[in-house]
Amino acid sequence: MVTSYRHEPFTDFTIQSNKEAFEAALRLVKGELGKDYDLLIDGERISTEDKIESVNPALTKEVVGRVSKATKETANEAVESASKALNDWKKWSPEARAGVLFRAAALVRRRKHEFSAWLAYEVGKPWKEADADTAEAIDFMEYYARQMIELGKGKHVESRPGENNQYVYVPTGVALVIPPWNLAFAIMAGTTVAPLVTGNTVVMKPSPKSPVIAAKFVEVLEEAGLPKGVLQFVPGDDEEIGDYLVDHPKTALISFTGSRNVGMRIYERASKVQPGQQHLKRVIAEMGGKDTVVVDDTANLDTAVDAILTSAYGFSGQKCSSGSRVVAHESVYDEVLERVVAKAKELSVGNATEENVYMGPVIDKVAFDKIMGYMEVGKEEGRLMVGGSGDDSKGYFIQPTVFADLDPNSRMQQEEIFGPVVCFTKVKDFDEALDVANNTEYGLTGALISDNREHIERAKVEFHVGNLYFNRNCTGAIVGYQPFGGFNMSGTDSKAGGPDYLALHMQPKSISEMY
Ligand code: GLU
Repeated sequence: MVTSYRHEPFTDFTIQSNKEAFEAALRLVKGELGKDYDLLIDGERISTEDKIESVNPALTKEVVGRVSKATKETANEAVESASKALNDWKKWSPEARAGVLFRAAALVRRRKHEFSAWLAYEVGKPWKEADADTAEAIDFMEYYARQMIELGKGKHVESRPGENNQYVYVPTGVALVIPPWNLAFAIMAGTTVAPLVTGNTVVMKPSPKSPVIAAKFVEVLEEAGLPKGVLQFVPGDDEEIGDYLVDHPKTALISFTGSRNVGMRIYERASKVQPGQQHLKRVIAEMGGKDTVVVDDTANLDTAVDAILTSAYGFSGQKCSSGSRVVAHESVYDEVLERVVAKAKELSVGNATEENVYMGPVIDKVAFDKIMGYMEVGKEEGRLMVGGSGDDSKGYFIQPTVFADLDPNSRMQQEEIFGPVVCFTKVKDFDEALDVANNTEYGLTGALISDNREHIERAKVEFHVGNLYFNRNCTGAIVGYQPFGGFNMSGTDSKAGGPDYLALHMQPKSISEMY
């Protein structure tokens, strides 16, 4: 009997024993740094000369691991192997496939801090963020396993006398999974186990910025009993194997999470039917965001300040859900701005593998340079209130930054910066607040801080985002509680962690028999 789903609790690091357990996990992982990880194709490990070197973004001389790289040839073998394994795997019962996920979730839970410590090393996550990332990975497995058991029963359709109609879900085929580096464990695990539990086989190409945590998860799935050939692990350069895997005629489903430009490229390429291809490819694409926290004239300002800080600076603003825009009513604007600036000055920035800081580094040199470039744009377009500086001498650190008085159409308020930068815009009434909040090409998350029921009801209809929050931050959606995905250029709105997600990986089949 499967118990009902509850999300994995977060760790309270103010409790000394939890803090000590996390420090012990950091020491354990430190002793494991610098190892080599192989490709996994048809259950065989393949080591290549050429490697992706994954480094700690907080201390770039520290190598987290060296991961083999797939070529077009090995990428082709991976797809062929997945295609071959499909025949057996799709016949496993939903319960049997779910069992692999339940077992994998239990294995991760037992070594929870260890996985979070890998996240601290590989992507610079502060403890709280790393802990939430690991918890979410567990949640995806627990939630999708249960959902598959339900979906395995099919859905009710009517039958006439003498007739038996059935509506069942069957797998789609070979799934290509391209996860991001930011929710390096959660989204990587979630987007991998969803096609698996639904009976598809998978070729996973991890982000070249976080391949080690992905290699660790592949080990877990093997230990949990996933048969060989069902999951292939093919890290590699986007230029070398990205398009190749998307274009492959045997790829049936592509699940991508990442930038808008790459998502658009995949969407377009997947639409072309290749020679030998006998199906239309499906694409799940979760892309960027330019998310807004709206503060109206009735808002509780303590709530507003907390919501803005958490939304803007959690994981250094590197979530597609990050609240990088604040739109505040003129009667509260100055006070909110002043209080956010004062608090931003107090936030600690540093190396999460050494201490429990509020904010770690940004992911790499490219991100650092891009965000620092936006500092100059911000100084021209608005008023720098705090931050604006960075230091890449040891790792890629950027101070929490606030810009004020931005035009809603400015680059700072339109373009995704993906760093610890929040920009304020002043509005005169709630109509204008909604207009400005909706004035981006994205539509992922948004928050309204308000005590006005009428405003809340209007926002439910008029604030055009996939994840809308009231009187809280706009980040940190929980699997099974706040299904996640956005409108417009934020993607296909697949709602990861939601009741409809698994069905996107399957094909409904109508069966009708006359007696
Ligand atoms: N689901 C995450 C959240 O609600 C964000 C996912 C992402 O950044 O891709 O904060």
